[in-house]
Amino acid sequence: MDQSMLAWAKTSPFNGGSASYLEDLYEQYLNDPTAVPENWRKVFEQIHDQAQNEIPHSAIKNYFREIARTRVAASHQIVSVDLKQIGVLSLVNAYRKHGHRVAQIDPLGLREPEHVEALQLGYHDLSEVDLEREFFVDIHQPAKKEKLGKIIERFRRIYCGSVGWEYLHVEADDERRWLQGWIENRYGQEGLSAEQKKEVLYLLTAAEGLEKYLGAKFPGAKRFGLEGGESLIPLLNELIQNAGARGSKEVVMGMAHRGRLNTLVNILGKTPKELMEEFEGNYQIDDEDYSGDVKYHQGFSADVKTPGGVVHLALAFNPSHLEIVAPVVEGSVRARQERRFDEQRKLVVPIVMHGDAAFTGQGVVMETFNMSQTRAYKTGGTIHIVINNQVGFTTSRPDDARSTRYCTDVAKMIAAPIFHVNGDDPEAVIRVARLALDYRMTFGKDVVIDLVCYRRLGHNEADEPRATQPIMYQVIRKHPPVRKLYAEQLQKEKVIEASDAKRLADHYRELLELGKNVVPTWIPMQTHEFTVDWRPYLNAEWTDPADTTLSAEVVKRLGDVLTTVPENFVLQSRVQKIIEDRRAMYAGEKPLDWGAAENLAYAGLVYEGHRVRITGQDSGRGTFFHRHAVWHDQNTGETYIPLKHIAQDQGPFDIYDSVLSEEAVLAFEYGYATTEPRALVIWEAQFGDFANGAQVVIDQFISSGENKWGRLCGLTLLLPHGYEGQGPEHSSARLERFLQLCAQHNMQICIPSTPAQAFHMLRRQVLRPLRKPLIVMSPKSLLRHKLAVSSLEDITNGHFHTVIPEIDDLVPERVRRVVLCSGKVYYDVLQKRRDEGIDDIAIVRIEQLYPFPLDELQTVLAPYAHVKDFVWCQEEPMNQGAWYCSQHNFRAAIPEGATLGFAGRPPSAAPATGVPALHEKEQKALVAQALNLSISD
Ligand code: AMP
Repeated sequence: MDQSMLAWAKTSPFNGGSASYLEDLYEQYLNDPTAVPENWRKVFEQIHDQAQNEIPHSAIKNYFREIARTRVAASHQIVSVDLKQIGVLSLVNAYRKHGHRVAQIDPLGLREPEHVEALQLGYHDLSEVDLEREFFVDIHQPAKKEKLGKIIERFRRIYCGSVGWEYLHVEADDERRWLQGWIENRYGQEGLSAEQKKEVLYLLTAAEGLEKYLGAKFPGAKRFGLEGGESLIPLLNELIQNAGARGSKEVVMGMAHRGRLNTLVNILGKTPKELMEEFEGNYQIDDEDYSGDVKYHQGFSADVKTPGGVVHLALAFNPSHLEIVAPVVEGSVRARQERRFDEQRKLVVPIVMHGDAAFTGQGVVMETFNMSQTRAYKTGGTIHIVINNQVGFTTSRPDDARSTRYCTDVAKMIAAPIFHVNGDDPEAVIRVARLALDYRMTFGKDVVIDLVCYRRLGHNEADEPRATQPIMYQVIRKHPPVRKLYAEQLQKEKVIEASDAKRLADHYRELLELGKNVVPTWIPMQTHEFTVDWRPYLNAEWTDPADTTLSAEVVKRLGDVLTTVPENFVLQSRVQKIIEDRRAMYAGEKPLDWGAAENLAYAGLVYEGHRVRITGQDSGRGTFFHRHAVWHDQNTGETYIPLKHIAQDQGPFDIYDSVLSEEAVLAFEYGYATTEPRALVIWEAQFGDFANGAQVVIDQFISSGENKWGRLCGLTLLLPHGYEGQGPEHSSARLERFLQLCAQHNMQICIPSTPAQAFHMLRRQVLRPLRKPLIVMSPKSLLRHKLAVSSLEDITNGHFHTVIPEIDDLVPERVRRVVLCSGKVYYDVLQKRRDEGIDDIAIVRIEQLYPFPLDELQTVLAPYAHVKDFVWCQEEPMNQGAWYCSQHNFRAAIPEGATLGFAGRPPSAAPATGVPALHEKEQKALVAQALNLSISD
């Protein structure tokens, strides 16, 4: 000890055990480390350094109290002993914090050995001499002492073994303490019985056996095998069985292609026969509307027995866009939880599997984490498993793949605990699974299991990995499979006989040969009160009728609720005016505007018992101040949602302002809508063009999910669209993109131009049995346009018109041109025609561009059979909008020999100009063109 320290020690308050003085001093240090004398700072720093937050103040107090209690006489000695004790505490915390950096988590042993200074004795002013001395490590139990050597041995075993624990970043004190307790006390005792060990060996045998079998039978066929990561199968089984034991009724899983076939057969019980047939190319496709998908994208549903009862398993279908399935799973889970009134969110558990490269590389992971605790999207915690084979296709250098130590660091954004576990230690994997599930069930939050493994073969089976990973694959070639390692371990432990492992492998192979289900817990699918019967929705047509009207009496009743402000609830003055106007509209005293009609549509649906769910960045109010489905008290800030007060037995109405995401949010709603056909599920873009932030969801799921996977989806997208001079970004929802994706009646594209049209369209989406995505080019300026209004009669008596004929009193025989158009431009053309007194040009609105209402349009055009001049008018540039994608439909509807001209903006790279004057000029020009006027008119 140096002289200054000694001097300090002699006058140190330790002498008198002055705990309260020390407490104050420590408090000061916590507030401002520079406020305490340097020597004290050093002491506190030593304690604090390794564990920024994890030492509670009370613990420090206890520590000093203990010193006071022991009252050792010589101050010199006290300080010497205490500093050592502090060093020990500091070392122990260093293991908690840094142990994972040297833990044996890489089965290949290729992880660069790291020298962690904080794990060295000297760093904490300790030395070899101290190893035989006794110290305490639990500051709550200072009397319980152990030799330092033993302490280190224990902490090395816990923190530097097969699991690298990262939990000190967990912010909640109770969670951190809970995790620490589990890891330090319970983990070591979570042994496996002989039976459990045998079960694990069976599952490893199954995992390996399936890949071997497929590899031998279909050499070179792509299967994205699990070889190297076989521990995934016992891991999944443990999670499912454990969830069942804790009362869960459903587990929804998402995963990419790696290991999917193995999961399908060995966890979900897809029969090997069915899988083999797929390998042989015998897909049962006799329906021309079904395109099918590759084997390793297929979803599956099954029931399994668990100690707590039957658990339903659903593996989500997914495309090759690896991580996008995560929010889809979350949406599906949320729908199931709501269906089961599962407020605790324990009855349905999501498990999402990831690849290491994609987990750290794809932004949707971060978006999904961000959603995990929000009102609209939480699912009570997801168990994430990273199948970390330490390579992304051919990319294995960490400095190519990421800028973080681990691929899992993204999970720290929500302070999720992360457990890196060596895939070659199946028992560690099982114990980690138990902890992960326990954490999820206890705290309702996400947790990450990083299953560190390897990929025995290439990215796919036809790939040569040695070309790019020569050193890794030299090691892999010599590395025994985990099944073999574990079988040897069990033999040593005398749990199995030498011949048992082979017998198990032979037995599994026989099962495969028989083609029968290999999952012992599998049972035929049960039906129960929460089972959804999808049959009514199968084979429905978009033309199926539905009465979307509401009676005058119901409108009155709903209108009353929608405009009744609770007592003492103070609306903002503009909102108040809107609600007062709405009251007059529902009473038939004023024409209905958009907001009134839209709210009435939702009110009608919940009144009839349907669920309505709306999310989007400003959905409660509406981006354009038109919806006001959520009211805000100006005095208290409290909210009131009239649509939740429609009737006692109404359907649920959920509306949320979403997190600022398009991709994950839309994927979530897709997951919700494909799981719950009885609800109206709406995602609303703030502006329509933002939808392209979710393009993967539109391309890979919404437009093609039914065709590829037979999954129906009634999701509605409200995409504000219209050229109002707001510039290139807020004008177009890229109608052309959606139209280009349309085929085989895969989705509906509507551009309603009146409030009543919106009303009937929204109700039709639920009341018809058809469950197809509905893409709506929704309005902006039309929300308040004086011509875009409807009467109550339109609500009580109408339906959704796919085509709206001319509304003015023109004489059809005198008409020499017919303008066809959709959406807002209609009103511009109509106004100009009226202004100009033109009476020989008819205007016909096409309100549904897909499926194209050919019959309806032909009927509407029948009075114009003599007309030779038809024009399609759109606001979008010629290369955008409906012109290229839909003109064949327009041409099919017009009389033979008639011409179809174009009135719109010239082709353009950007959707719209950012210069207001230019916008005005263009808009005038296209309206003039439609009406055959010279531009100067
Ligand atoms: P799941 O609860 O997702 O496992 O679904 C159970 C069963 O319901 C599936 O096997 C399908 O037969 C049916 N099903 C679920 N979702 C859909 C959907 N979106 N479209 C059509 N059928 C579905």
